[in-house]
Amino acid sequence: MFAEFHDYVRLGEVSGVFLVRDNGKAVISFGAMPESDLPPAITDAEHLRHHQGHVFSIYKSGNYPVYAVVSASQNFVFKYWLCYALILGILGGLMTLALALVFRHNKRHTNLLQGELWQAIDNNDLCVHYQPIMDLQTLRCVGAEALIRWQHPERGMIPPLAFIPLAGKTGMIRHITDWLIERIDYELAFLLGGNPELHVSINLSPADLGADGNKVALDDLLFKHIAHRQIIYEITEHSLIPEQVQTVHEIMAALRETGAKLSLDDFGTGYSSLSYLQRFPLDYLKIDKAFVDGITSATQSGGLIDHIIDIAGTMHFALIAEGVEHDYQMQYLKAHGVQFGQGWHFAKPLPLEAFVAFIEKTNAG
Ligand code: C2E
Ligand code: CA
Ligand code: CA
Repeated sequence: MFAEFHDYVRLGEVSGVFLVRDNGKAVISFGAMPESDLPPAITDAEHLRHHQGHVFSIYKSGNYPVYAVVSASQNFVFKYWLCYALILGILGGLMTLALALVFRHNKRHTNLLQGELWQAIDNNDLCVHYQPIMDLQTLRCVGAEALIRWQHPERGMIPPLAFIPLAGKTGMIRHITDWLIERIDYELAFLLGGNPELHVSINLSPADLGADGNKVALDDLLFKHIAHRQIIYEITEHSLIPEQVQTVHEIMAALRETGAKLSLDDFGTGYSSLSYLQRFPLDYLKIDKAFVDGITSATQSGGLIDHIIDIAGTMHFALIAEGVEHDYQMQYLKAHGVQFGQGWHFAKPLPLEAFVAFIEKTNAG
């Protein structure tokens, strides 16, 4: 062990190395420092001691009644630490700079995306697709979920998850939802007017319900050319945050008062307790695709979906299963009393004309 210190002593980095017995006498020593400069009464408890302009590092042996003591002059330790402090300071500065650049890049990206999104609204680059929702018993289409799309002139189709969360954070979602309601009102008024049994579901973000603390006007969320009872507002558990519960609750109740229905989206993926959820006026629960994926055959599932179906039954909510991709999933859901389903097994989200054609074909007769 002492051999390793010879180099340090030779370079002058260490002024003395000692092996000291518990009576204070050195058994081994080398380096420029005389034994008389050792600090008196070395104890078990200490690891570092300052004594007469030197710093002593003290290490007690686990097996023998001896201490290893290494000393260096305070000047040397100071210079050494200064050097480290300088390196750490430079590294810290570089890291702060890197963070600032990443932050600026993200902010610029956010601003750019936001600017482009405004332009997209003006240029009519946003559009709506409609994904059919089916009655699992009759296999008739009962309506559709409206899903926004952004057809970027250079980057092609941008999926909603690439811009809706950002719009939700910046408050821009209110303008998007206004645009969406106006567009659906215009596109579906004729179809839904002639088919009063059909509905359209629209996704609301937490800010649309005032969960961000800003005031909401009920009128902004209403359709003018489609009957209120043909509208389902889909909300997620993120809207039901306790801080704004009063505001959100009021607006939900007011929407329901118009005759519209409320559906809890992505059910089972949030953290709210059931007793908490029961306080809100809801009509449907949408079972998240993750649970539907757990169905492995017409008679078998991971079990989780069965609990969800039980809960919905106890709470008297109707169920809509999303992400149904296979016939056996549909068979399982139907056999377990789930009323409605939505997914690629029936149809992908469709542009208006294709959706109208789907209804005509599926609901004929
Ligand atoms: P979501 O409300 O859970 O919508 C369902 C998503 O699952 C849609 O993705 C739909 O295309 C997709 N999907 C439906 N069936 C299947 C299937 O069988 N397999 C698979 N793999 N996927 C399926 P999309 O359109 O990309 O929307 C993603 C999310 O973006 C939506 O999730 C919703 O949270 C949000 N979003 C979409 N449109 C709007 C909108 O107009 N307003 C708001 N606020 N949010 C929207
Ligand atoms: Ca939804
Ligand atoms: Ca969903």
